Amino acid sequence: MDRDGSAVKAIESGDAVNREGINPPLWLLAEVTYRCPLHCVFCYNPVDYAKQHNELSTEEWIRVLREGRAMGAAQLGLSGGEPLLRDDLEEIVAEAHKLGYYVNLITSGIGMTEARIKALKEAGLDHIQLSFQDSTKEMNDFLSSTKTFELKSRVAALIKKYDYPMVLNCVLHKLNIDHVGEILEMAERMEADYVELANSQFYSWAFLNRDQLLPTKEQLVRAEQITDAFREKVKGKMKLFFVMPDYYSERPKKCMNGWGNVFITVQADGTVLPCHVASMLPGIEFPNARDKSMDWIWYDSPAFNKYRGDGWMNDLCKTCDEKENDLSGCRCQAYMLTGDATNADPVCSKSPHHHKLAEAVAESLKPQAQVKPIVFRTDKDSRELMKQREGGDLTEEHRRLFECGSVPSADNSRIGQ
Ligand code: SF4
Ligand code: SF4
Repeated sequence: MDRDGSAVKAIESGDAVNREGINPPLWLLAEVTYRCPLHCVFCYNPVDYAKQHNELSTEEWIRVLREGRAMGAAQLGLSGGEPLLRDDLEEIVAEAHKLGYYVNLITSGIGMTEARIKALKEAGLDHIQLSFQDSTKEMNDFLSSTKTFELKSRVAALIKKYDYPMVLNCVLHKLNIDHVGEILEMAERMEADYVELANSQFYSWAFLNRDQLLPTKEQLVRAEQITDAFREKVKGKMKLFFVMPDYYSERPKKCMNGWGNVFITVQADGTVLPCHVASMLPGIEFPNARDKSMDWIWYDSPAFNKYRGDGWMNDLCKTCDEKENDLSGCRCQAYMLTGDATNADPVCSKSPHHHKLAEAVAESLKPQAQVKPIVFRTDKDSRELMKQREGGDLTEEHRRLFECGSVPSADNSRIGQ
């Protein structure tokens, strides 16, 4: 690990980066497409995803996987968008399996048929994580703006039939968190082995909808109590994970386990990031796997060295005796909420910006927050938002969600496979 920022200094002066102490990546997240039939209100894809118009080809993905594996990556997440929209998914999985990855498919289930799950099994897929939006058809379909609840239920049955561990994921927020007991009962009926109840993190589309999605403290406490009681009941049968939200915490999470430390994300068009929303950070040119090797990107690129170690930290964090616990938290959250990515994540109660979280909670409790229209994740809205940003029509905080100068691709030029 570059403890003192020497890698950045070496790059600035044109010298080679000393690779000693930089860990190889272990997790490669391949966002193979940003096409998606769903329109989730909390979607973690960048709000300006519709600027992307040219997905990596099958051969390009295979090269990325090969280079990632050669560096030591062992876990592969195939995500999107909806990865099942790629016709070559089976081919990508087969190659990843041959290379020795443990291959996870992260899916909404839309596009999964018996023929496809059979083909994916034969190709060597190890693991499927299926997302639900709620336990009720009405709320599930509202939150994704599609009629998909029954289809997802059928996919859950297929996952069991093909002998995969059933991993069910549900993002929690104000509109569904009171159903947590029912969500767990649904998971039990589906014979889930693992359930991840991930409280919405407020990035991307969830940040645009924060006023409408931020749960109250009371909702959160109740949901955690119900989950704890259920955990006791299903002990030994089902594993439950309850991911706490940042807005009621006093210390930030060790985001991505450190910048450029474990995770590497490749976007649909080949842009390579240390985390899936980092493209919003200003002043960083993120490299593309089409132009550069994964090895150079991980070890030598200015982007991946920018926030490694603690050389970049401001005095508050650099001199803090807790810095090893959280490495100053999330750079994107620091930028979104304070305008400066080198600040401490304002989730930390030592941060002078910590009050912003309480202000956001207060804002979400106002009556007008309940009637504000929700923004659904669609190509049309992504383009519209980019236009609004260019026109200066967004708030400063919302402007920060976009990559500098992102321009929507023309309506018909989002090329898939
Ligand atoms: S969160 Fe929803 S809209 Fe976003 S990629 Fe996943 S399924 Fe699609
Ligand atoms: S001051 Fe910085 S390093 Fe210390 S606990 Fe807070 S965020 Fe972490």
